[in-house]
Amino acid sequence: MADAYDEECDYLFKAVLIGDSAVGKSNLLSRFSRKEFRLDSKPTIGVEFAYRNVRVGDKLIKAQIWDTAGQERFRAITSSYYRGALGALLVYDITRRVTFDNVKKWLQELKEFGGSDMVVVLVGNKSDLGHSREVDEEEGKSLAVSEGLCFMETSALENLNVEEAFLGMINKIHQITSQKSL
Ligand code: GDP
Repeated sequence: MADAYDEECDYLFKAVLIGDSAVGKSNLLSRFSRKEFRLDSKPTIGVEFAYRNVRVGDKLIKAQIWDTAGQERFRAITSSYYRGALGALLVYDITRRVTFDNVKKWLQELKEFGGSDMVVVLVGNKSDLGHSREVDEEEGKSLAVSEGLCFMETSALENLNVEEAFLGMINKIHQITSQKSL
């Protein structure tokens, strides 16, 4: 019997996870893709990616989400990582201000390598660690507003808002691409 992975899909979208090391990118991805899932890797460029099929209206979308697999530590994320990506989750850790300060650096890289109308969701992860918070939710929100991004705080650990962050991005990509094809 065919599993969900093998179902005929109407669209294939690529999206990428970016952000500093240890902000929770891999945990967010494994949370999101846990059910229908293949974690795969492309050893040539040292990245991992996972698929998940998502139904939006009457369309079945296969979302292919790329993870840096630790390469960001070596500043080794290159243009091939971003090529063809329609969306990005830009993740920081609410308990480490430096990861929030570096969001600007990641945005710069997105401008350089990403497509002009990529859907970007700014994600403040580890919301379960409120007692160690170094970045207020309002700061995340207002940065997102000023840069024209969507925004969400998540906890990969407690599975809070993880679906919402990925599905919000996928829905928006679908909206944009279906408007374009009208
Ligand atoms: P990556 O380097 O960005 O892919 O980060 P990882 O997914 O490997 O996570 C780095 C560390 O943060 C690991 O020790 C995770 O267990 C922890 N972590 C990830 N997400 C959360 C979260 O939402 N809450 C808490 N408390 N820890 C998290």
